[in-house]
Amino acid sequence: MEARSSRHFLQIPGPSPVPDRVLRAIAMPVIDHRGPTFADLGKEVLEGCRKIFQTSGPVVIYPSSGTGAWEAAIANTLSAGDRVLMVETGHFATLWRQMAARWKVEVDFVPGDWRHGVPPEVVREKLQADRERAIKAVMVVHNETSTGVTSRIAEIRKAIDEAGHPALLMVDTISSLGSADYRHEDWGVDVTVSCSQKGLMLPPGLGFNAMSEKALKAGESNDLPRSYWDWRDMLKPNAQGFFPYTPSTNLLYGLKEAIAMLLEEGLDNVFARHQRLAAATRAAVEAWGLEVLCLDEREHSPVLTAVVMPEGHDADRFRKIVLENYDMSLGTGLAKLAGKVFRIGHLGETNELTLLGAISGVEMGLKDAGVPHKPGGVQAAMDSFHNQNLRAGDIRAA
Ligand code: PLP
Repeated sequence: MEARSSRHFLQIPGPSPVPDRVLRAIAMPVIDHRGPTFADLGKEVLEGCRKIFQTSGPVVIYPSSGTGAWEAAIANTLSAGDRVLMVETGHFATLWRQMAARWKVEVDFVPGDWRHGVPPEVVREKLQADRERAIKAVMVVHNETSTGVTSRIAEIRKAIDEAGHPALLMVDTISSLGSADYRHEDWGVDVTVSCSQKGLMLPPGLGFNAMSEKALKAGESNDLPRSYWDWRDMLKPNAQGFFPYTPSTNLLYGLKEAIAMLLEEGLDNVFARHQRLAAATRAAVEAWGLEVLCLDEREHSPVLTAVVMPEGHDADRFRKIVLENYDMSLGTGLAKLAGKVFRIGHLGETNELTLLGAISGVEMGLKDAGVPHKPGGVQAAMDSFHNQNLRAGDIRAA
């Protein structure tokens, strides 16, 4: 491996770069997870999580990846043979569907083109048509990391209410929490699934569930077996700041710091920053004459932008050239998008100048790889920042 100077540009849509403050917080001696010092840490992070998920209800933290937290959501609420409604927004919706099927849950999987989010009107129609109330849950991915499309959760909630349907609403916020506006309680979500390595700016290793009273109630009578994932086993010791088994102690130190950083900046400012970065990225893509995968203006992801490669050009070859020439990792195309798109992550510890570095790397890589494009993406991104700041009355001029 060739030696490189300075930092690697990790511009994939998670894991995202871990801030120095968080790395320093993690670098602590491991403590007794049954002792009083741990209890204080446990209580503090569990309380802090409520602010990030925007809920007054409980949040549980597993030593797991996001996939584990997906499983916890299913195992704690559903029964074998239950029907659920899901929408094929992309690779991650497809994987969650496969998991539900392995748990013997019957999935009504609405087909999608991987360029749009969940259509709220389809949710409404499907639920209205379900006269026997057989559908037990609507399970959707908020930010589809494979496509850069963000579904409109508040509108989906409204659609469920308009249908007067009692189904639970379960939402995967694995790549949106801490980056895109998300409100567990206001939006009437029953189970929110998330993880550590994206908007929370931590290394991989923590999975989260936030749950409503209704979800907890569903868990009292469902019949799927669970042990490691059982919310009840978690919630009991959590009340005193403890966990039923050995927690990821040092990641929890990191979580405490990450929550502090997000709250110091202010969640609204964090969300606005991600929107600003996303708009500048799209301006660059447009200037290059390339196409953004997401087709609906209302659903552009603040977290990542998936860029369609021109016909006859392999996105992975381009990514390899960028990595070799500029030490930058871009996201690969997943499943049916392999080779067809590359993804620019603009989440977590990213600001105007780091993003401009990333956009420069993409533009140089397009030229190196012989991908047909127009120059000027970096300029367009700079102009986008300037204009957005002007509009916000935020510019500091001489
Ligand atoms: N859901 C979404 C939207 C994701 O982006 C990912 C991973 O990137 C997952 C689920 C799976 O999470 P993990 O890889 O942490 O298990």
